[in-house]
Formats: sequence, C-alpha cells, structure tokens
Amino acid sequence: MRWGDFRQSDNIEDRTGGGFGGGGIRLGLGGIIIAIIASVLFGVNPLEFLGMMEGASPGPAPSTAPPGYGPQTSSPGGASTAQPMSEERRLVGGVLGDTEDVWTAVFRTMNRTYTAPTLVLFNGITQSACGRATAAVGPFYCPGDRKLYLDTAFFRDLAQRFGAPGEFAQGYVIAHEVGHHVQNLLGTMDQFDAQSQRLDARGRNALSVRLELQADCYAGVWGFYAKKRNLLDPGDAEQGLTAAAAVGDDRLQKQTQGTVVPESFTHGSSSQRMTWFKRGFDTGDLANCDTFNAR
Ligand SMILES: [Zn+2]
Repeated sequence: MRWGDFRQSDNIEDRTGGGFGGGGIRLGLGGIIIAIIASVLFGVNPLEFLGMMEGASPGPAPSTAPPGYGPQTSSPGGASTAQPMSEERRLVGGVLGDTEDVWTAVFRTMNRTYTAPTLVLFNGITQSACGRATAAVGPFYCPGDRKLYLDTAFFRDLAQRFGAPGEFAQGYVIAHEVGHHVQNLLGTMDQFDAQSQRLDARGRNALSVRLELQADCYAGVWGFYAKKRNLLDPGDAEQGLTAAAAVGDDRLQKQTQGTVVPESFTHGSSSQRMTWFKRGFDTGDLANCDTFNAR
C-alpha cells in the first residue's frame, strides 16, 4: 500500500527546514537564548520554559494545527509553492490522515469526538512541551502539547538498524504514537499519571509497560481497519509485527529526558508487543486492549 497517496493530514508541523513553516527553527535559536536568560533570572528550567513558549506562541488550542503550518493551508489539494514534498513527508501525512479517519469513526461509535494530534517532523533536534526531542530519543508523544514527535532519520533506523523495513512498519510506529494520543483523550494518561505517582520506580515501569502495550494494541486497531478496507498488501501484517518486535524494550531509547515522556520508560518485551498488536489487529475492538487489567 502506498500510504503517501492517501489523503494528507493537515496536522503536520514540518520543522525539517524543507520550506514549510520554519517556526521551529526560529524558536530554536531565539527561544533557547531567552530560555537560558529566564532560567538564570528566575530559576526556571530552560526546557520547561521552552515548552511554555511553544505552547503559547501558536495559540491556545494545541489539538489542531496552528494556521500557517503545512503546505495545505495555502492551496488545498494543489501543488505547494514551496519545495516538493519529500517521500517521508508524504508517507507520514498519509498515515496520519488515515489514523484520523479511523479514530474519528471509532470515537463516533463511542459517542465521542476525536480531536487529531499534531505530528512534528524534525531533523536532529527540536523542542517539545515534554523537553528536548532528539533523534536518539526516538519517536514519542507528548501529552502536554498533544503532539507526536518524529525524527526523519528514524525510518532509516527502523529499516537498517532494527531490521523492520516497509511502509506498514513505519505506519505502525506512527499508529503507536497516535495510540498514546487516544489514551490521552480517553483519560488513560491522567489515570496513569495519578497511579504512577503512588508507585516506586519499579512499579512505575511495570505500569508504563501496560501503557505501551495498550498503545501497541491501539496501533493494531488501526491496522484492523486498514485490513478491513483492503488497504494491506500480503506481508503487511507481518511487517507490523516485525516492527512491534523490533522496537521492543528500550532498543529505540538510547537516552532519556526525565519521566514525563512515556517513551523513556520500558516498553515491554518483543513478544508482549507482538501479542498486543495482534490482539488489536485481529479484533479491532478497544475493549480487547485493556492491558491494565490483564494478568
Ligand atoms: Zn509508546
């Protein structure tokens, strides 16, 4: 399946310097200097300050893409006047657009409204409300600004270092992060935060694994609907499973930045991740993704 041919999501914030937006770069230098000054003057953590600035500058509603970001705002459906869209950008936009369609429909069956997250595509380093995002941290979802952070180098890593090539494998990674957004919307993240504050480090890690496995299951739910619409090629399901196994434990995680980013915790073993992805993929039912009450 060529996900790049799908409806492109409007909720991409391109900070790769590919000609779109550029807000990230501006915030990069000026913001860092201001943040350092602020941290000296007021004793504020500069990363926290950057998060505050980023949240404040585009507008008060973090759940939708701020106007001005993304090529779609200038000419819907037409060619961008900026640089041509990269292959990665198209794939990410297509997968994200499809997760929006699927989760909008799933939420409707629950009499809920799905508000789509923003996906920040970056190169090397950027700022999030959860702190600094680097390629080494791997993709993650920040509940604070409701954004997914994805370094473009990650897909190459996925294929070369983790041995999980293919578009569906890449789609799985995005769908997993969208799964965290779903958890945020459904209140699971808040419950997780409240519960984990009462636990020691070991208990927190165990709880975090359940959070991660549920996101895998939700990624599987997205896969279920892709399969149902005949969007999958032979071998795609295996690709998803391979990716789920490849990102087992903290293989993606070389360094962490504090405890607010769920990705910096343990993710569960490869076989656990495959099991839960498959559970969502086979049934498409959120009720089967209750990892918190599983044995
Ligand atoms: Zn995760």
